[in-house]
Amino acid sequence: MTAFSPSPNLTRVAKGDLCAGCGACAGLFPDRIVMQASAPGWLRPKQSGTLAATEEARIARICPGLGQEVEPGKRLDSVLWGPYVSAQTGWATDPEVRFAGSSGGVLTILLMHLLKSGRVEAVVQTAAAPDLPIGNTTVISTDAPAVLAAAGSRYAPSAPLSDVKARMADGRRYAFVGKPCDAAAMRALVEDDPKAAAAFPVILSFFCAGVPSHAGGKAVLQALGTDLDHVESFRFRGNGWPGRATAVLKDGGERSMSYHDSWGKILSRHVQNRCKVCADGAGVASDVVCADAWESDEAGYPVFEEGEGTSLILARTTLGSEILAGAIAAGRVETQPFDMGTLAAIQPGQRERRRALLARLTGMALAGRPIPRYRGLQVVSAARQNSLKSNLHNLIGMFRRALRRTKPQA
Ligand SMILES: Cc1cc2nc3c(=O)[nH]c(=O)nc-3n(C[C@H](O)[C@H](O)[C@H](O)COP(=O)(O)OP(=O)(O)OC[C@H]3O[C@@H](n4cnc5c(N)ncnc54)[C@H](O)[C@@H]3O)c2cc1C
Ligand code: SF4
Ligand code: SF4
Repeated sequence: MTAFSPSPNLTRVAKGDLCAGCGACAGLFPDRIVMQASAPGWLRPKQSGTLAATEEARIARICPGLGQEVEPGKRLDSVLWGPYVSAQTGWATDPEVRFAGSSGGVLTILLMHLLKSGRVEAVVQTAAAPDLPIGNTTVISTDAPAVLAAAGSRYAPSAPLSDVKARMADGRRYAFVGKPCDAAAMRALVEDDPKAAAAFPVILSFFCAGVPSHAGGKAVLQALGTDLDHVESFRFRGNGWPGRATAVLKDGGERSMSYHDSWGKILSRHVQNRCKVCADGAGVASDVVCADAWESDEAGYPVFEEGEGTSLILARTTLGSEILAGAIAAGRVETQPFDMGTLAAIQPGQRERRRALLARLTGMALAGRPIPRYRGLQVVSAARQNSLKSNLHNLIGMFRRALRRTKPQA
């Protein structure tokens, strides 16, 4: 018997398998919720004490597993890509940063710029976990070398809001970088609490097709002919564009595979359920979001040839636009114009997921599963871009999967 009342909000999230793993609930109530490892390699909240009604209401406003709300205001508002102020491509002018970054190193150089210009005193970001090379840990960086050390996308669970209460209490100004769901939780928190607004004046994000479990990372190691016992360190990508998934072995050897093989053939098969019904893989809650500005082939599909990194850079707020302009003026970022009309072709995974979302949500709801509540994310307009056949296919597929998950395990 539990000695506390389970949180109705966390229960709803668990019932729908909707947790994004952002860590906000644990970060806000660390004495009663902690993030812990859960099979097959997720970070999930574990509750140990009753939450008051006001605390439940706070989780309901902030948890991205329960939903997300966007207010476009007077900004340009694309059906598939959300509200934005400007769209460009670009890269860090420092070649070391451009090379280390996942695409053009723009997030890394913007974080360095924010520190150097004094707008923030520290950065909340994600780096390899010291005790699990395929895992992540949240790091606080206060200088350029530390920011650079955490460059590169890590296709594994991260919970960068799991210490927000401590961050809000220490009086520093932080730039926050995280997945779009992390950015959504952070934006909701900032709008909910002036102390959070003071602590986290800048929110950066990246496009996200989904987070794989640690089982995905282990499967990559297996395909490389090694395992955790023999691996000293692991990068999912970066050090080139897109950069190879690279394991450095304890005996000094190195094994690697292409991004096409690691993400396309292995990691993408291990993403969490919440990602399959994600309305925001494009960081709509951020001030600036970056993505891969892939070249496309004659058929319009992205080409993953190794080359010098180029990021798509969307400034989503006036503040984001100012920060980007400052970094350009300081000579830290070089940019080129970008035609938003080409984005759907170079991000086919994001495009198809947005178009299929309404059908998938309907399939989940028909199977009796809770679904996230989305407001301002143009879910119906995106579904209208899909064929009836594809919508039906997605609805039935998700209905069947949700029913399978509802059945008691033998
Ligand atoms: C799980 C995942 C899915 C992605 N899916 C897409 C996609 O569908 N389309 C696309 O264009 N791009 C995707 N990306 C983003 C892309 O790989 C690049 O990160 C993006 O282009 C920005 O590149 P950059 O060189 O500016 O970033 P960098 O300069 O390399 O900076 C990346 C920053 O992100 C932080 N970070 C890395 N991994 C995580 C993590 N797991 N959680 C929180 N913070 C993290 C790092 O600490 C660093 O500060 C994905 C990234 C991840 C981690
Ligand atoms: S999505 Fe974030 S806030 Fe919601 S239950 Fe999961 S960890 Fe907690
Ligand atoms: S796909 Fe959406 S829910 Fe999944 S990790 Fe990325 S932003 Fe979060």
